[in-house]
Amino acid sequence: MIENELKELGISSENLGTSTGNTWFGKGEELSSYSPVDGKLIGKVKSSTKDDYEEVIKKAQTAFKEWRMIPAPKRGEIVRQFGDKLRKKKASLGKLVSYEMGKSYQEGLGEVQEMIDICDFAVGLSRQLYGSTIHSERPLHRMYDQYHPLGVVGVISAFNFPVAVWSWNTCLAMVCGDVVVWKPSEKTPLCAVACQHILAEVLKENNISEGVSSLVMGDKTIGELIAQDSRVALVSATGSTRMGIEVNKVVAARLGKTILELGGNNAIIVTQDADLKIMLTSAVFGAVGTAGQRCTTTRRLIVHESIYDKVKESLVNAYKQIKIGNPLDTANHVGPLIDKYAVEMYSNALEKINQEGGKIIVEGGILEGNGFESGCYVKPVIAEVENHFEIVQHETFAPILYLIKYSGDVLNAIEIQNNVAQGLSSSIMTNNLREAELFLSQQGSDCGIANVNIGTSGAEIGGAFGGEKETGGGRESGSDAWKAYMRRQTNTINYSTEVPLAQGIKFDF
Ligand code: NAD
Repeated sequence: MIENELKELGISSENLGTSTGNTWFGKGEELSSYSPVDGKLIGKVKSSTKDDYEEVIKKAQTAFKEWRMIPAPKRGEIVRQFGDKLRKKKASLGKLVSYEMGKSYQEGLGEVQEMIDICDFAVGLSRQLYGSTIHSERPLHRMYDQYHPLGVVGVISAFNFPVAVWSWNTCLAMVCGDVVVWKPSEKTPLCAVACQHILAEVLKENNISEGVSSLVMGDKTIGELIAQDSRVALVSATGSTRMGIEVNKVVAARLGKTILELGGNNAIIVTQDADLKIMLTSAVFGAVGTAGQRCTTTRRLIVHESIYDKVKESLVNAYKQIKIGNPLDTANHVGPLIDKYAVEMYSNALEKINQEGGKIIVEGGILEGNGFESGCYVKPVIAEVENHFEIVQHETFAPILYLIKYSGDVLNAIEIQNNVAQGLSSSIMTNNLREAELFLSQQGSDCGIANVNIGTSGAEIGGAFGGEKETGGGRESGSDAWKAYMRRQTNTINYSTEVPLAQGIKFDF
């Protein structure tokens, strides 16, 4: 199915899972990667042992000392070459993402495009790592702040964006002068091996020492080593809120820095003034795209009572046209869930909806038979619920869309939307300027991402990406998210012949 692509991406039985660049090693247990598309084994990699991890960190520390001395625009040039190489490998890497993770081929290509885009962004950024100058209160003094590289950045990533999230972190960290140690999801190890190969090749072509980009492999125990390790200056962790709470506790205990990108419970508010055509495309793609396995997936639709029945009918009709099947076949809209555990979580959620008094209006089910042998294909569901149901308050990583009715003012809808523990992405469908501005104001959405007439799902790399509350508060990718990958230093220079003290303090002796 994917042998040619694996070959083109440099993946072979020699890639044992731990890497400091072009050197591959690993003494841990074997980790098997099965495709959710057809249930077949794609390949095996070895998990990293504690000793492997030690070797990686030591190399990373040494590499940092060299890497930080390369001028930022020159580091940017290396990231530019990485982007060029990704352009050449886009089709094969996109296909591997689709086959190992289960998202559609189109979305796999989209993920690689995000990598290319962040490379371009980082190249520009490499000449714009600005500090500010500050007027001093003392005569003949100059003040400014500047940003220096942090050190080793640990990246722990989730299965659902197996390549893009790493690149968001790595490209920024690299131009900022940091080195990266990546612990990918144990569910998508081959995507990680492929990425490491591409970047390591570029680094080698530029005669950069090993250790600037490293890969450690395994389950959460390897992630825990990163969290505990005070040699890792910043831990950027993407995954469930449960994981984020655990990682945060450990990193905070050693006063390390974190970027936490955790679960969402995203809603679209549909007001009386909504353009229902825009709403329909946004809501359906948001709810069923990537089989509901995006952190920004639309989980709740909060609809005004006056248009509720109309919206419901249009959704039910749209769901009848959804094609489920092999994600590499571009005729299909929805592929599989990542594994059978995810299918179990989906089934449990449907049971819970019924127990709590919800009404399922588009029935679910697990697909069987020809083409569905992996056992990971499920039908997208729509359920009418109330926001306070326990199941609605939690993120179920599957294509289940909750319909919630609101009445009266848009503020009522905003209150429902904000009344969950998570705060990642949100959106309002309205042509009413007052409603849109209220939604974006300080009494509006409490999420890190708030959109008008665009769904919740997906984001452009130019903006800072992340969310509030249980989503963790971290920001990655665009805008000034780079500042989290550097340490800030305030400098004061006295070019007078006196030593005036700040705040007018006199100290004569
Ligand atoms: P997960 O939490 O099970 O695992 C994520 C990563 O964390 C994996 O690499 C795992 O091995 C590691 N890990 C787990 N426990 C750990 C611990 N105690 N210490 C260190 N590492 C640990 O998540 P998943 O199932 O892979 O991904 C789905 C989740 O990720 C969803 O909740 C989704 O919303 C979230 N997500 C968030 C964003 C975002 O930007 N906010 C992006 C993608 C995914």
